[in-house]
Amino acid sequence: MKRYEPRRVIIEEAVKDSPVTRNLLARIPHTTPVEYIDDPSLLVRGEGHPPDKEEIIVAKNRGRFIKPCPGSKGYICCGYYILNLALNCPLSCSYCILQSYLNTPFVIIYANIDDLTAELKEFMGKRGKQIYRIGTGEFTDSLVLDHLIDYVDMVAPLFSASPHTFLELKTKTAAIDSLVKMKNRERIIVSWSLNTPQIIEREEFRTASLEERIEAARFCEKLGYRVGFHFDPLIFYPGWENEYPEVIEKLFERIDKRDIAWISLGALRFMPSLKKIVQSRLPGTMLFHEEFISGLDGKMRYFKPIRIAMYARMVEEIRKYDPECFVYLCMESREVWQKSLGLAPSSDEELAEWLDRRVK
Ligand code: SF4
Repeated sequence: MKRYEPRRVIIEEAVKDSPVTRNLLARIPHTTPVEYIDDPSLLVRGEGHPPDKEEIIVAKNRGRFIKPCPGSKGYICCGYYILNLALNCPLSCSYCILQSYLNTPFVIIYANIDDLTAELKEFMGKRGKQIYRIGTGEFTDSLVLDHLIDYVDMVAPLFSASPHTFLELKTKTAAIDSLVKMKNRERIIVSWSLNTPQIIEREEFRTASLEERIEAARFCEKLGYRVGFHFDPLIFYPGWENEYPEVIEKLFERIDKRDIAWISLGALRFMPSLKKIVQSRLPGTMLFHEEFISGLDGKMRYFKPIRIAMYARMVEEIRKYDPECFVYLCMESREVWQKSLGLAPSSDEELAEWLDRRVK
């Protein structure tokens, strides 16, 4: 996988001396154009599509860095927190929900690291002994910008200060250099989104191959990290029932089941506005061959029997290799849990408790 390099960098004057900015400037080729501006908000609007996201804006985050995951109304959610280090993702997966949420073609990197550190310390200080799982992979890929910024190196050590807060780095890359250097590994879970080679090739542009992702996971496992895997989105297409189990087989061949913190499953879902955006930029996409219905949260989903069949097939396969493996569904109803896994958390809190116990 080729490492992401921006074509142009725009820096907000207010953060020009930040360590984030310094790292970035030291790591881009000296020929990359760099501009300084007072107010980046004047620039950020516009359409984002694959040839874009080649320009970075380094800016000050004026909002909160840590937010609870909004979850999905009517579905069971896992009590996750999001640490927002950057906005937008150069990997450009066809189904990326950011396309319907963000209206900017830029990758925005937040550079006020002192504010982030203060907010994180305050967050940890207030929480007592309750466990918190925090992830950086919601508004971008957790590792895709790390070779330019060193975010992991700046943020992960802060987690060693609190025994109850765990950081999940979620990625589709094999960019694990910073994890090799990291000393405090106990409270970091490195997780990979996996899909079949066909979906990776056709829908997950610029990402690492399946082989590269599993190899990177194996390397992290050997370094002593716990690893997680997310089959999300599961895509229904001719041959899915054989190709997804092949991925599971490959995974358990290479990764020791004792090091797997969790495997999550989530079938493709999207806001209705996403379909038009994707079809106009990628007419050859496989995403919309099946019919969809509108869910309780307004997102489009496969019909329930299809989702149940996909989850049940995945769980059956996973259980062949590890009957004890902790598998959970992302944004599904109790009925779907029950019919595909044979059990269901009674509430969001119970699922959060199950996951908290896993990280602990
Ligand atoms: S890796 Fe995640 S955030 Fe990045 S483009 Fe793909 S779906 Fe979007």
